[in-house]
Amino acid sequence: MALAYIGLGSNLESPLAQVKRAFDELAEIPNTSLLARSAIYSSRAVGPEQPDYINAAALLDTRLAPLALLDALQAIEQAHQRVRIQHWGPRTLDLDLLLYGDEIIGEERLTVPHPYLTQRSFVLYPLADITPNLQLPDGTPLADLLSRCPADGLQRLSSPA
Ligand code: ATP
Ligand code: CA
Ligand code: CA
Repeated sequence: MALAYIGLGSNLESPLAQVKRAFDELAEIPNTSLLARSAIYSSRAVGPEQPDYINAAALLDTRLAPLALLDALQAIEQAHQRVRIQHWGPRTLDLDLLLYGDEIIGEERLTVPHPYLTQRSFVLYPLADITPNLQLPDGTPLADLLSRCPADGLQRLSSPA
């Protein structure tokens, strides 16, 4: 079993509903259980001009190998009719595999820890809701990353569940 942290994001077609539905779908991935969900946040988009995002994070306990978990995440994105038109463009649902245990993975389809994890307030704050004393595989405390990352338009909309 491995603990895996997932980043959720949406900015199209009722983003809040998309993210809430995605939590339920994460709970239904085979050989996997949903251990925790963060609060729900809104954030300003990076990249091209587009609507604000809804963001959150989830903690899974899974027997799936990293690539099998990525397949499951991409299947959920597809079920939300995600279409890729533009890099970093608007989307109905984005599910990023942020951390998979203490593993460091550099494969064509999968980089873990997620490469932009350390710079994104909309990832770091939700992670801190779930595991405030989290450390990255290289030992960096999440708290150090947070202290260096401005909240930058991030707003907390709800409490963690
Ligand atoms: P960003 O990576 O900056 O968050 P994005 O989420 O918009 O950008 P996508 O278009 O969703 O990027 O994904 C592009 C590809 O990234 C996917 O096809 C997937 O194979 C690959 N990928 C690499 N590492 C990861 C990861 N840790 N989680 C999810 N996808 C990943
Ligand atoms: Ca992403
Ligand atoms: Ca993604």
